[in-house]
Amino acid sequence: MIITIDGPAGVGKTTVGKLTAQKLGIGFLDTGIMYRALTWFLIKNNLQNSTIDRIETDLKTLNFDLDITNIDITTVLINKINVTDVLYSSEVEKYVSKISSFKNVREMMVKKQRDIVKNSSCVVVGRDIGTIVLPNAKSKFYLTASAEERARRRFSQNSEENPYSKVLKDLKERDNSDMSRKFSPLKVPQNALIINTE
Ligand code: C5P
Repeated sequence: MIITIDGPAGVGKTTVGKLTAQKLGIGFLDTGIMYRALTWFLIKNNLQNSTIDRIETDLKTLNFDLDITNIDITTVLINKINVTDVLYSSEVEKYVSKISSFKNVREMMVKKQRDIVKNSSCVVVGRDIGTIVLPNAKSKFYLTASAEERARRRFSQNSEENPYSKVLKDLKERDNSDMSRKFSPLKVPQNALIINTE
């Protein structure tokens, strides 16, 4: 059984996805973590502003491992470095949508995501899961809530103490970039049930 949950930042995909996976006793994959991990790696190597041609060379040599056996914590290793604790910094959030918009990056991630869930039962959350990654899933959900409400949630979990106005501005920018990009933009998948989490 595969359940897909898509939706914008801060809408509750991870919370709902984990609870659903726990209730059903199946796996949980948060694909956002994968894009964040790659973005962190590129920032670390000062490649966040590079062209895709430059980044592509590094993508080929990148060793990317995900351990999803523990629903509460997905462990991400990049070239054997555990990056799990550094994925939610504002630096990563600033660049993650740009990095995620590259076609080659998406192709690499989609392949990995399909491999991870192959022959398993899993709740998979992200932006393009019901549309591109697993379009044949029987149970598809799309979560929605206003940007203001989502920013309020993010603000209350805000470890870097950014003001609410900045959290809202950054979230709207990320929404805009994720929804308007050329490859796999965020949109409601066909046959998805839309749930307002406000
Ligand atoms: O879900 P989360 O906020 O952690 O995702 C971080 C970013 O990763 C998103 O803003 C989006 O740019 C990218 N992403 C994506 N496709 C996915 C999951 C995340 O493009 N399936």
